[in-house]
Amino acid sequence: MKTKLLKINPFDIDLNKINIAADIIKLGGLVVFPTETVYGLGANALNEKAARKIYEAKGRPSDNPLIMHFDKLEKIKDYVYITKELYEKIKVFVPGPITFVLKRKNIVPDIITANMDTVAVRIPAHPIANKLIEMSGVPIAAPSANLSGKPSPTIAEHVIEDMLGRVDTIIDGGNVDFGLESTVIDLTEETPSILRPGPITPEKLKEVFGEIKIPEFIYGKAKVDIAKAPGMKYRHYAPDKKTILVEYSRDRINIIKEKIKNYKNPLLVLFEEDKVYFNEYDIIVSGRENDYYKIAVNLFSILRNADKTNNDVIIIEGVEDKGLGISIMNRLRKASTEIWGE
Ligand code: AMP
Ligand code: MG
Repeated sequence: MKTKLLKINPFDIDLNKINIAADIIKLGGLVVFPTETVYGLGANALNEKAARKIYEAKGRPSDNPLIMHFDKLEKIKDYVYITKELYEKIKVFVPGPITFVLKRKNIVPDIITANMDTVAVRIPAHPIANKLIEMSGVPIAAPSANLSGKPSPTIAEHVIEDMLGRVDTIIDGGNVDFGLESTVIDLTEETPSILRPGPITPEKLKEVFGEIKIPEFIYGKAKVDIAKAPGMKYRHYAPDKKTILVEYSRDRINIIKEKIKNYKNPLLVLFEEDKVYFNEYDIIVSGRENDYYKIAVNLFSILRNADKTNNDVIIIEGVEDKGLGISIMNRLRKASTEIWGE
């Protein structure tokens, strides 16, 4: 398949180009587009054949459901059951980097939900994503636009690496804002629970929902409830190389200093502050220790770039499990093959 590349400036959108992409969605094709979280691989969510192509292009297991993207919140009412009270609460976060799991109506194709009775819906806050959905005239099903198991794409170059020749069109809309996939929250029970931590932190969710559950698997410490969070059982975001994560603790620098001696040619991913201790090693700086937004936005690029060097192992310094750090550590624990300092 020949992939068409469309470069669109998100601050000065060329509607003719969006129209070309929207036509492809209408015709049942695949379009990669930027969102505020990561790049998405989109198809008409109401066209079963089109949605099936997403799984093929990514090599994604068919029991891992897709998120339905809308340009306006009120449109979800045709596809999910939601009380007035809950609708008012989710409004606070819309549009934005958060996905709501709700009871679905029959109109939603089974391929989207992996045959479950719930469906995940999101209203992105990105001008290109929003215009594309609006002009397509249908909800767009879209997972992250990476090959299954790889880090999610945060710049168009990553998409091209994974998806050239596998999709009809790639929209290059520059950098994303967050660099981590949306927070996924299950709203089908009395107490909401987080299925995937993301840019909207537990603290923010508590302000609106009151009590919320954070299952242990979010911290990588217990088995995933596959019935509730089907996508989380797979290894994800993973570099091809051996990848070691060092848990955050006061002792972490000493742990790295001691254990690093066992490796011939390691690549260290560190905070700016820690660089000085390890001058003789290859280093990628991930951001400042207290700047989790900076670390998050660079995280998947770092994991991809680390695979391109000739180092034999990647050693990554972890962050604290608080705020956005919970999401960063969730991704890093899944990406790693070994963890130090647990
Ligand atoms: P991705 O498409 O790669 O961003 O991943 C989408 C995430 O949303 C996966 O972790 C899915 O398992 C999750 N998801 C989608 N639909 C549902 C659903 N109905 N119930 C629970 N999780 C869902
Ligand atoms: Mg993904």
